[in-house]
Amino acid sequence: MTAVEHRFGPYGGQYVPETLMPALAELEQAWVVARDDPGYLEELQELLRDFAGRPSRLYRARRLSEYVSGPAHARTIYLKREDLNHTGSHKVNNAIGQALLAQRMGKRRIIAETGAGQHGVASATACALLGMECVVFMGTEDIRRQRPNVERMQLLGARVHPVEAGSGTLKDATSEAIRDWVTNVESTHYIIGSAVGPAPYPSLVRDLQRVIGDEARAQILEREGRLPDRVIACVGGGSNAIGIFTAFVGDPDVELIGVEAAGDGLDSGRHGAPLTVGGQSGVLHGSMSAVMQDAEGQITEAHSISAGLDYPGSGPEHAHLRDLGRARYVAVTDVDALRAFTTVTKLEGIIPALETAHAFHFALEEPSTSTLDLVCLSGRGDKDLAQVLERLGAEEL
Ligand SMILES: *Cc1c(COP(=O)(O)O)cnc(C)c1O
Repeated sequence: MTAVEHRFGPYGGQYVPETLMPALAELEQAWVVARDDPGYLEELQELLRDFAGRPSRLYRARRLSEYVSGPAHARTIYLKREDLNHTGSHKVNNAIGQALLAQRMGKRRIIAETGAGQHGVASATACALLGMECVVFMGTEDIRRQRPNVERMQLLGARVHPVEAGSGTLKDATSEAIRDWVTNVESTHYIIGSAVGPAPYPSLVRDLQRVIGDEARAQILEREGRLPDRVIACVGGGSNAIGIFTAFVGDPDVELIGVEAAGDGLDSGRHGAPLTVGGQSGVLHGSMSAVMQDAEGQITEAHSISAGLDYPGSGPEHAHLRDLGRARYVAVTDVDALRAFTTVTKLEGIIPALETAHAFHFALEEPSTSTLDLVCLSGRGDKDLAQVLERLGAEEL
């Protein structure tokens, strides 16, 4: 049995209260056994196939390809359609995997944090499927801007616990979930929704999301007979990005690009781009990584139009890939993401999540010599319609 990584270069670790250490050790042990257990893997595969709809499609986006191609340069853009999964995003891959694991561990109560609501919906769905109790922590600002997902979670039988602290967004919801876990650790499994948190979570979430890249690599080889020049994904905590990157990390000619939220602009300080801005690393929610912080080391508030990217931290493996020079991180503003949202909707008949729209802006508008791009379409944008309509005047639609 190979061990689960605790560190990615200097990043990662387990910066948690001592009371949580036995739970992290128990989780790691359960994962090391489950990931090699044919019983677990078969059940997971069956649910991902028949319940979640995997494998997700690889789609050649004809009109987006035309849009980026000129007379002297043709580029083809493929989309990995995680938006077609049950519940509408990649989050379901991880939620089902962890809920099944929790069931094996004898835990009956699930807690989760959510920003955009997609992870909350995915967790509530997995709990309904497996007959488990579910409590979802969500900031009050996110409850306001992602209302349909709140209603979905409640219909699915989950309790949505509003968090007023701080900015009422993902960071605050995560802190509250950790507090609940410390209190109820015997009965409860905490399904972290991104490749963040103390070890073993960043590795566990990556392992459950790498199905995105494993499928996409085989699909593009079959379609094009070659690997893409670039793989592009948006980065909140970094789970869809690490899920698609992992299959290509060993292919040095494939450029890996993570797109963070530049919010109002990197200079404004109102953004969610800790990997892009750089600076010192720090500790947030149990691990060391690139974080947004002030001179005293206090975590500062992130800002993004997209709730799923509105987070001041980042997955530790991304910070390491950045330092190694293996992946590159860039940031896209709210305004540019909104433009890409409408462009993709009009040109392809696909309404992308606002999170994904950040990746699309980079893929569509940044000059590049790439002839073959693979974009992770992490989720669908139905949840974002109210938000988009509020921001765009009728004339901009
Ligand atoms: C949650 C979410 C994200 C951001 O989370 P990652 O862990 O960085 O993938 C991106 N896209 C969608 C559709 C999401 O729901």
